[in-house]
Amino acid sequence: MTVGVWLSLVEHLHGVQGVASSNPATPTLLAARRGLAAAAAAVLLAGCGARTSPPGYDSAEEKAELRHQVAYAIARREAQRARVQDVADAIKLANPEICGDFIEPHLGIELWSLPARGRLEETAREVYEQDYGLDGAARIRRVSPNGAAAAAGLRAGDALLAINGAEAKGSSRGLRAAAQRLAANPDYLPVTLRLRRDGREFERAVEPRAACRSEVGIAPGAEINAYANGSQVGIARGMLNFVESDEELAFVVGHEIAHNVMDHVDITRGNMLIGSILGGLLDIAAASGGVYTGGAISSAGMEAGRRLKSVELEAEADYIGLYMLHNAGFDISGGADFWRRMGAEGGNLYASTTHPTTPQRFIAMRKTIAEIEAKAARGEPVLPTPADGR
Ligand SMILES: [Zn+2]
Repeated sequence: MTVGVWLSLVEHLHGVQGVASSNPATPTLLAARRGLAAAAAAVLLAGCGARTSPPGYDSAEEKAELRHQVAYAIARREAQRARVQDVADAIKLANPEICGDFIEPHLGIELWSLPARGRLEETAREVYEQDYGLDGAARIRRVSPNGAAAAAGLRAGDALLAINGAEAKGSSRGLRAAAQRLAANPDYLPVTLRLRRDGREFERAVEPRAACRSEVGIAPGAEINAYANGSQVGIARGMLNFVESDEELAFVVGHEIAHNVMDHVDITRGNMLIGSILGGLLDIAAASGGVYTGGAISSAGMEAGRRLKSVELEAEADYIGLYMLHNAGFDISGGADFWRRMGAEGGNLYASTTHPTTPQRFIAMRKTIAEIEAKAARGEPVLPTPADGR
């Protein structure tokens, strides 16, 4: 007879916490250890095998393996972040024309530094110091491959010493101030950055490029979903695991950026989300735009008037998103099939009050792709057809 109890492999699957988190890896290890203990107990309880003697380990081995796993988790997280940012930047930089007034000066760099002691678990701190060269200085975390900073020769790991002559500091307040100084450039003037690399100081002038405005990040949560709030886009971790290629990720990112560009999101509702995407808390109920709601958003008490309009807005985000992808050089031919996979995952196959059904989306996408290809073949500008013209 089978005993109706399941033992899980680990207690929880923890995501790696942010740079400023307190304890990135230890819970996972503890949970794994508890899981193994539970498995061992189950063997004893089952009583059908002789007792065994699994190999032991000493604390030095454990410490070394912890460091290895923390380094792996951080590297994986950085790679996922970079993947999302690279896709987002490609879309944003290729579409200032579609985005109209909804653009901003884009340098294509992100900054980071080592948080103050006590704000980071010690093993993680060691990894950030040794593997990423992080210290108290403001450093370049990532350079966007097609951005202005890459063209000016900046590299990840460079220490940022000054912006237009003003000192840049690595404290959290200093990083915020530096980011604000870099963003506050309405006339798109070249920015002079003083940098240090391998002990040598130098200056580079970086000319910002026009890009669609939207901060894009990874949101916590296993759901296959993504969100837009008017100024930010959050891609849930579950969606990141669901997409099978950068093209598929781009369909999702482009759709959400389109919501922001087209001002689809109720600004007051959107404000509830500001600052929360990268901070770790995402209120699903507050997110108006979503690729795949699974009822989560419709059940959140949205007013009927907005719900009626919502299907149209989702269709428009799909439509404009595809144009953005084409202009960014992504292969959009698989876009429609992506919605078949979404439908297979339990998406809105039959009916939805907030989104087109996945069959409706599939058909609309296929027709949009044909429309885009026809415009490109005729040598016309590949821009969405305005509501009043053909
Ligand atoms: Zn949407």
